Amino acid sequence: MKEVLKPVKIHVPTQLPVGTVNVYLLKGDENVLVDTGPHHEESRLWLEKGLGKEGLQVKDIDFILVTHGHVDHYGQAGDLSADSGAEVWVPELEKDTIANFSNAYEERKEFYSEQFLRTGIPEETLRLVAEFFDYVKGLATESPVHRTFRGGDRLALAGWDLRVIHTPGHSPGSSCFRDGDTLFAGDTVLSHITPNAAFGGADGKSVGMADYLRSLEELEKVDVTIIYPGHGPPMEGLAPFIENYRALYRTRRAALNELLKAKSYNAFDLVVHLLGSLPIQEVFLGITEVLGHLEILQHEGIVTAEEKDGVAFYSLAGE
Ligand SMILES: [Zn+2]
Repeated sequence: MKEVLKPVKIHVPTQLPVGTVNVYLLKGDENVLVDTGPHHEESRLWLEKGLGKEGLQVKDIDFILVTHGHVDHYGQAGDLSADSGAEVWVPELEKDTIANFSNAYEERKEFYSEQFLRTGIPEETLRLVAEFFDYVKGLATESPVHRTFRGGDRLALAGWDLRVIHTPGHSPGSSCFRDGDTLFAGDTVLSHITPNAAFGGADGKSVGMADYLRSLEELEKVDVTIIYPGHGPPMEGLAPFIENYRALYRTRRAALNELLKAKSYNAFDLVVHLLGSLPIQEVFLGITEVLGHLEILQHEGIVTAEEKDGVAFYSLAGE
C-alpha cells in the first residue's frame, strides 16, 4: 500500500480579516510550498520560523505551487523565488494576475468599480472600498512564473503525485491538488468560513457563483478523506462542507426571491437587506455574494434587470 504522505502546515499571518493562511510544506527530494502567504515582513518571519522547525531555510525551497492568484496565497512568491531560486508554478488562468501583478490588479480594480457603480453603492462607501483595495495591493509583488498548469495535469514533486483539479468560482484559475485520499483545496473548500465567488468565474468576467456550484459537483465525484484548506484546520471528507454551502445558497436565494416579491431593488440595497450593514473590508464580499445570486437568477429567467441612471434594478420576471 502506498504510504500516506503528510504535509507540514505553517500558519502565516495575512494582514487581512481572514486571519492566517495555511502554507503547506511538502518535504522530500525537493522542498515544495503550496501557497506562500502575502508579501509582508511578518509573513516572511512566520514562514522562516515554520521552515526553521523543519531544519530548513528559505534558500532550501525548490518549488512553489500556487492554488490561486489572491495576495494572501501567493503574495510573497516573488520574494521567495528571488531568494531561493525556487520555480513558481501557477494555474494557467492566474498567470497574468501573478506575473503582471501591478497592471492586472489596477485593471481588476477598475472593472470592480464599474460593476459596483451599477449596484447603487453610495459614493463614499465605494471610495472606502477602493482604499481597502489599495491597501491589499501592498500585500503582493510581481512574481516570475516558471510553469503553468491546468485541470488534469500531473505534478510529481517531493514524492507526491498531485493531480490538478480546476475549480473556478473563487477565482478564475482556482485549483485543487489531489493525491489519493488527500486534497489541497486552496480557498475552494474552507473549514470555518464560506468561500466567496468574487468575480471568480472561469471567463474572468462573471461573478462565478454558477462556476463555483459546478466546481462543487466536480469535487463531489472525487473520493478524498483528508482535506487541507487554504485557511483553518484540516477536514475529513467534503460532504458536510458541500451540504452546508448548498443549504446556505438555498436560504439566501429564497430570501432574495422573497424581497423581490415586494418590489424591485438595486443590488446594494439587497446586500443591506440580506446581510445587514457590513464592515468596509467585507462590502466587496457582500456585494459579490448578492451579484452571484442575481446572475444565476437572471440566467434562469427568474429575475430581470432594468437600468436607471446607470444603476441596475432587479425585479421578478413577469411582475
Ligand atoms: Zn484565501
